[in-house]
Amino acid sequence: MKDLPALRTSLLRWYRKEGRDLPWRRTRDPYAVWVSEMMLQQTTVAAVTPRWGEFLKRFPTVQALAKARQDAVLAAWSGLGYYRRARALHEASRLIVADHAGLFPKAPGARLPGVGDYTRAAVLSIAYGIPMAVVDTNVTRVLQRLMAWKSGSPGLARKIKDLSQELLPEGRSGDWNQALMDLGAMVCLPSGPGCGVCPWPRWCLAKARGLTSRIPGLPERSKPKAVGLDCVLCERNGRVLIEKRGPGLLAGHWGLPEGGGGEVLTRVRHRITTHAVTLVLRKAEALPRRLGRTLRWVKKKDLARFLVSSLWRKALRF
Ligand code: SF4
Repeated sequence: MKDLPALRTSLLRWYRKEGRDLPWRRTRDPYAVWVSEMMLQQTTVAAVTPRWGEFLKRFPTVQALAKARQDAVLAAWSGLGYYRRARALHEASRLIVADHAGLFPKAPGARLPGVGDYTRAAVLSIAYGIPMAVVDTNVTRVLQRLMAWKSGSPGLARKIKDLSQELLPEGRSGDWNQALMDLGAMVCLPSGPGCGVCPWPRWCLAKARGLTSRIPGLPERSKPKAVGLDCVLCERNGRVLIEKRGPGLLAGHWGLPEGGGGEVLTRVRHRITTHAVTLVLRKAEALPRRLGRTLRWVKKKDLARFLVSSLWRKALRF
């Protein structure tokens, strides 16, 4: 890469002035950084911002999280969606306490549930300054444009990985990774990149060749899978019957029991990750009879602690 030191300085200077002031960027605590990265895996910065601080107040250390009950962790994760991340975070916290003296592991072979290459590189570079580049769709798009590499070109993934590592400035890998994330999230947008305010117009080959609208090309959106749920509302003496869900949608969560009933109380449409759910809630005519289910009567005022998915909140609003 030509004039690499100037390219690095230009981005880091831009980041110092224009980078997002996010609460998790004010700490180097590996646990706090890791929690933010887990939340950000599939949730927007705007949604994570208030929830990260609340989660850390509830579980201030990895030891506190490891000791917590799964129901409490899922409740604290409520509203962020993709609950398998919360379960993985919880399971990984127990491994960190048991096997790594309470510290997010640096060893290359150490694997944790829910922590893939991206999350690992982000935590290690930001919290410990280890020179590991992060590569996600934002970074990939910026680097493809920088080099005018078209999608589908041979060996693209390997070239992006090598380039991202080559660009890392010594001793600034955490800032660099966050700067590149911000450039992709704020300036070099999928459609309509803001080349006029970009720190890299001198180096960007897509801009020089008039290819910014053709690289990387828009991804195809997959259609959500339609799922129908029939549930019943079963009430007795101010309490509501709930059940622990089996494998499939919202596995391991408490929910309203599935089954047929009488009068329809409400119909709710709700998106859960890649599923478009239509829930029909009916008034129960009798107690659900299927055996082998974990059922529990809960006081109405305590329902919010158990029914953490927004699906149930919507359904019970009727
Ligand atoms: S010059 Fe434009 S296309 Fe190139 S990296 Fe900057 S914003 Fe993206």
